[in-house]
Amino acid sequence: MAYESDTIQEAWGLVCWRFLHQGRMHSPSRAVFELDGRMHDSPRHFGGCALDGLEVRISPALAHLPREVMLGVLAHEAGHVEDLRNPGLYGLSGGRLRVYSKGPQHRRTSHETEVVADKLAALGMGDVVGYVKLDGVGWIQCLGEGIARPKGLR
Ligand SMILES: [Zn+2]
Repeated sequence: MAYESDTIQEAWGLVCWRFLHQGRMHSPSRAVFELDGRMHDSPRHFGGCALDGLEVRISPALAHLPREVMLGVLAHEAGHVEDLRNPGLYGLSGGRLRVYSKGPQHRRTSHETEVVADKLAALGMGDVVGYVKLDGVGWIQCLGEGIARPKGLR
């Protein structure tokens, strides 16, 4: 468990640092971050963010995936934190991230919400967050490569 904990905590620290300094986004570093093995409840599910954006839980199993995948997953969750802590601020327009002045929430599909998290992840990390297909896992986020999120992915 020490290897997993050290590896993931270090990577989350890097993601938070990049969001703060590269993306000027403060929310991820303020969220509670905990390791929780119960989060790995399906082959491609390694973590999640509370609906209020105040807490991120990640399975220790994530530490055994390639580093760029681990960073992609963590950056995606950090994107959810930023989005959820700023209701109404972010949306999509023509497939691109749009920043609104804060106001009423914009209607989005669950797919659009996931794409917003990926776009914010890219903004925070200064690099694209795409999806790659891993044996035994399926489609999963990866920093620096991959395709846009496949429709219908859960
Ligand atoms: Zn997500």
